[in-house]
Amino acid sequence: MYPQIHTEGIILKKRAYLEKDLWIEVYTQSYGRICCLIKNAKDLKNNFHGKIELFSLIDLLIEKREKYIIKNICVKKYFSCFDNNIENLAFAGGIAETTLNIIPENYNPKNYFELLKTSIGILSINNKGLAIFFIFQIKALFLLGYINTHTQCQICNNNFLESDLFVYIDQQENSINCVRCSGNHNLIKIKKHSLNVFNYFIFFPFNDCLNLIISDLKTYQELLIIMQNLNHLSLAKLKSIKFWKDLYNYQPLDS
Ligand SMILES: [Zn+2]
Repeated sequence: MYPQIHTEGIILKKRAYLEKDLWIEVYTQSYGRICCLIKNAKDLKNNFHGKIELFSLIDLLIEKREKYIIKNICVKKYFSCFDNNIENLAFAGGIAETTLNIIPENYNPKNYFELLKTSIGILSINNKGLAIFFIFQIKALFLLGYINTHTQCQICNNNFLESDLFVYIDQQENSINCVRCSGNHNLIKIKKHSLNVFNYFIFFPFNDCLNLIISDLKTYQELLIIMQNLNHLSLAKLKSIKFWKDLYNYQPLDS
């Protein structure tokens, strides 16, 4: 007998294997990101039919051999709404892609499953896809220890002032400086407001973040600049995520 485990999970990716089998990348509550094999997944007669949908919240019965084999799936929540909302479907895909890029297999950082479940759940009932995607990413990178809040200048160590309108990012040093320390270097000037939003997204509950009204795309572009320059993950790795590249050219569908 092999040990069997019960856990909740979210399907992030599917890959056909041999004639009828399927590999799925699942983020599970108990084991974090794992890759599981579903045998005869495509057999219409078995009980997996219609249950293996991307982003669905599922209860899994898994047999743990040298690999994980799925014995049973119970769908807890199927987000059929993504079928009619291409934009949110793309953001759900972005959340899955980000997860697969920043979390190695068999790794289960504390609270990540809850963040993933919350993000996909809110995305399924809300049309603020872009905001949800950014809140998710900033919270995820913070949870993994890759980014942190920034409230003071990294040169003079003084807190940024209420009256400061801009802060300055030094791409060479991966630091953020106040206007008084910005000198004549080639720094990226960003609105202090964008940094405030960044800090807010790290610390406040998801729904509070969502209530923050961000009306201009520039704020999101600047959040992206902050995430890419002030993180402990190699910049190249973040930049390699296709979805991040696409965000630079993002235009809302209704504009
Ligand atoms: Zn300073």
